[in-house]
Amino acid sequence: MQSLNADLHSHSNVSDGTLTPEALAERAHAQGVALWALTDHDELSGQRRARDSALALGMSYLSGTEISVSFAGETVHIDGLGFDVDDAALNAGLAATRSGRTERAQQMAAGLAQVGIAGAFEGAMRYVGNPALISRTHFARFLVESGVCSDTYEVFRRYLTEGKPGYVEHRWAALGDAVSWITGAGGVAVIAHPARYRFSPTAEYALFTEFIAHGGAAVEVMTGSHSSAEQARYGETAIEFGLAASRGSDFHSPGESRTELGALPALPGRLTPVWQLLQDRIQVPA
Ligand code: AMP
Ligand code: MN
Ligand code: MN
Ligand code: MN
Repeated sequence: MQSLNADLHSHSNVSDGTLTPEALAERAHAQGVALWALTDHDELSGQRRARDSALALGMSYLSGTEISVSFAGETVHIDGLGFDVDDAALNAGLAATRSGRTERAQQMAAGLAQVGIAGAFEGAMRYVGNPALISRTHFARFLVESGVCSDTYEVFRRYLTEGKPGYVEHRWAALGDAVSWITGAGGVAVIAHPARYRFSPTAEYALFTEFIAHGGAAVEVMTGSHSSAEQARYGETAIEFGLAASRGSDFHSPGESRTELGALPALPGRLTPVWQLLQDRIQVPA
């Protein structure tokens, strides 16, 4: 079970990745992934293409998304896995979550213009595959290509994080709503890359307990965002809270991502893999 090469967190150009769902499926398969999920931010329009490509390649598939949530003054990401992609409440919730992105991007561009970076909205839009999903990542690509920074990590550090000129505070979905949309559609909700949030121990405890109270069932333990110490730490957290564990690269782009599809260590044997909770939701090749 643990040894299955599952990669349950990745992005296509339907959100802020650079590969099409088809190309991403091919890359996952070539990297030895046996169970894959495409988890575009707040968006399901790549799901059928991803599933069809996966199954044609002989790879099993779980539906996926990564929902942007505001919790205790931070942005938290909640992955949904194995839900019905046609569920009306989930689709409506995601549409509402996406809706403020264009206006936010215009405000980000205004902030960047004030520090002498002109035309960032139009520049970022050139990298967008899906106009409804303009994200900070597209701004980062524009600022790298135009020579302002040398890589996307530098862009985030200097321009796109809290307190920096291109950062705009944004209200995303509520935690309970995001978890309910996922579970209501028959899926499992997963706290994505928990080590990325700058929470106090009290706020982190609140995140986990409220997530569970709303019906959340898993936490991402193996992710491209975690050091090996953080992998160990959140493995303990999974056990402590009785959560299943997930594994996903968070791959966005061949040129940018530090972690390749399917390349993370296996989940430690004492953890319950999230795909064990999703046996009847996995779509398998004919
Ligand atoms: P947004 O949803 O527009 O706020 O953009 C969030 C996305 O930006 C994440 O999903 C990551 O792909 C990327 N991102 C966030 N923080 C960083 C960072 N510090 N360095 C590189 N990429 C980041
Ligand atoms: Mn992203
Ligand atoms: Mn994320
Ligand atoms: Mn992600």
